[in-house]
Amino acid sequence: MTLSDLEKKRYLRQLTVRDWDQEKLKSAKVLIMGLGGLGSASALYLTAAGVGKLRLCDGDRVERSDLNRQILYFEESVGKFKVDEAKKRLASLNPHVEIATVKEFIDSQNAGELTRGCDLIVDGLDNIESRFMLNEQSVKMQIPYVYGAVQGWEGFVGLFHPPRTACLACILRQDVQRPDIISIPGVLPGTIGILQATEVIKFIMGVEQNLVNRLLIYDSRNLTFDIVETEKNPNCPYCAV
Ligand SMILES: [Zn+2]
Repeated sequence: MTLSDLEKKRYLRQLTVRDWDQEKLKSAKVLIMGLGGLGSASALYLTAAGVGKLRLCDGDRVERSDLNRQILYFEESVGKFKVDEAKKRLASLNPHVEIATVKEFIDSQNAGELTRGCDLIVDGLDNIESRFMLNEQSVKMQIPYVYGAVQGWEGFVGLFHPPRTACLACILRQDVQRPDIISIPGVLPGTIGILQATEVIKFIMGVEQNLVNRLLIYDSRNLTFDIVETEKNPNCPYCAV
């Protein structure tokens, strides 16, 4: 796969970065599941960076209360489908990226179809049930899964690639209670989504050190980044063999 002259001009500032491989990025297919605050940030940067193919998946429409953090959308996007608005914005940012959209929420029926053929999954979801469905596909199809989540001032990023690493279910319980009102400072999913995009790009290019077997915990209130090691749970109902 070769780059056109236009692409070489567009990516000029990153082509000379140590260990950068633009052609590998161009040949990658990435699924972004959920186009909210996390997905907005990761989709914009993955598009700008030149990931070859993006599959955007979300069944939701834009609400006014999304606009504090979902930076893919504008005032006039309110009421429209997120994937349609996202595709329009991303296509105008970088026409060299092929963008496919799916106007669906993940469920046990469509999970396999949504993830099929992707090299990598980006988690832009907002609930644990959907994340566990995504994790199940990651385990089943051995697709690397870049986890991201936010709550209050805290954010989390991880990279799971079972069977060689733990899966999400090894470190999280499915029965955590979800608060009625989700409180998020708008800037936080931006930070976490960009960290997810960074890990996606590095993973595609084979750049170490990455978040495999590690979970990053960002406390934006106290401005601390902590990394904890993650271990496979030998009794995990999803990935234990
Ligand atoms: Zn597991």
